[in-house]
Amino acid sequence: LSADLQEAQSVLQQVFGYPSFRGLQGEVIEQVIGGQDALVLMPTGAGKSLCYQVPAIVRQRRGQGVTVVVSPLIALMHDQVGALEEVGVRAAFLNSTLDFEATKRIERELLAGELTLLYAAPERITNPRFQALLDSLHERDKLGLFAIDEAHCVSQWGHDFREDYLQLSLLHERYPHVPRLALTATADQHTRADMVERLQLQDAQLFISSFDRPNIRYRVVEKKDPRAQFLRFLYDEHREGGAQDAGIVYCGSRKKVDETAEWLQQQGIQALPYHAGLDQGLRAKNQDRFLREEGLVMVATIAFGMGIDKPDVRFVAHLDLPKNIEGYYQETGRAGRDGEAANAWMAYGLADVVQQRRMIDESPAHEEFKRIQRGKLDALLALAESTDCRRARLLNYFGEDTGPQYRCQNCDNCLLPPALWDATEPARMALSC
Ligand code: ADP
Ligand code: MG
Repeated sequence: LSADLQEAQSVLQQVFGYPSFRGLQGEVIEQVIGGQDALVLMPTGAGKSLCYQVPAIVRQRRGQGVTVVVSPLIALMHDQVGALEEVGVRAAFLNSTLDFEATKRIERELLAGELTLLYAAPERITNPRFQALLDSLHERDKLGLFAIDEAHCVSQWGHDFREDYLQLSLLHERYPHVPRLALTATADQHTRADMVERLQLQDAQLFISSFDRPNIRYRVVEKKDPRAQFLRFLYDEHREGGAQDAGIVYCGSRKKVDETAEWLQQQGIQALPYHAGLDQGLRAKNQDRFLREEGLVMVATIAFGMGIDKPDVRFVAHLDLPKNIEGYYQETGRAGRDGEAANAWMAYGLADVVQQRRMIDESPAHEEFKRIQRGKLDALLALAESTDCRRARLLNYFGEDTGPQYRCQNCDNCLLPPALWDATEPARMALSC
């Protein structure tokens, strides 16, 4: 073991109380402590946070300064900082929820070198006042590390694009010697290339762990009456007593979220709505309830879920088609983070495909962009229409070679080889015209 890795391991055990690193964590952490850039692709729940939290502690102990974590998720910053403080790590966040006094206090602590981690929203990075702080730390060699969480947000090809992430290349331009760690749970080839280019990570070492989530059972059904089908799935197929499980139901529009949540409530399911059109307070309250209470079903648009660390989500259902495989993988990946059996259920219908096609065609984006979006949609259709192992499709899409004989035995096609369903042919025809 290198000295860096040894020190990292003692931090893991003494500060976080975990016996050992998982998967690639140790290798990533060693690289980052050593001051090298890294790009980390690990599935949701793999433990990406420790990849920067452990180096942050080691680097701060060695007098190398603070780690600045860029995250788009204000609610999660709050949770992460709370969890760190609980184990005795000095951490804080700067975002729009703080008043002037609190902001000033944190800025003072930052400048005094008292913080090990500072979480900041991406828009903060271009704020001149914040830049002056970073400059001052940098002049004194007290900028230890930049961690860019949810780094796929920099890519316009992805489904979570955030304008402010484009500014993050500034970190490299302004502070070229401060190591950077970019992390994401979702990145196909396009998104990956985009992250490297836009964040200027050409020199970063790439760490990719397997994207397989063996405990998630994938199932796709032909969409007829999706709400009723979902309910039947929940009662009959999901698992015994499954109606008391926590789960997420994704719908394609705010209106459908509201209607579906209401309908499920009428059917005796404890369902809560979540979408960007709800008032901020209600959204926060519903999210909080979902995280803290048992057995709630969150009915949501894709505005819900990024970074959510709820271990016992037992199912994720798509009543409407996601935009692409990255979205599907990311959203279904919120199920079964505790490693116990979980279901990913999706209703797939021709009307969704036609609608998404139209949205791409009619969008004002440039042709190259549309071409890639169409390609991504087609890959999702291939997955939905596939009669062979769905897990193999998923993994192959993310560049993992499963070999020709692979059968996961935990997707609908492996468990009950399907008779080709009726809509397949019309769907193909609709796509080719
Ligand atoms: P990600 O960001 O990759 O989705 P998180 O960083 O939120 O994942 O971690 C998911 C969960 O796994 C957390 O509850 C975390 O405490 C736990 N965890 C991470 N690494 C380890 C480890 N080496 N040993 C035990 N638990 C871990
Ligand atoms: Mg995370």
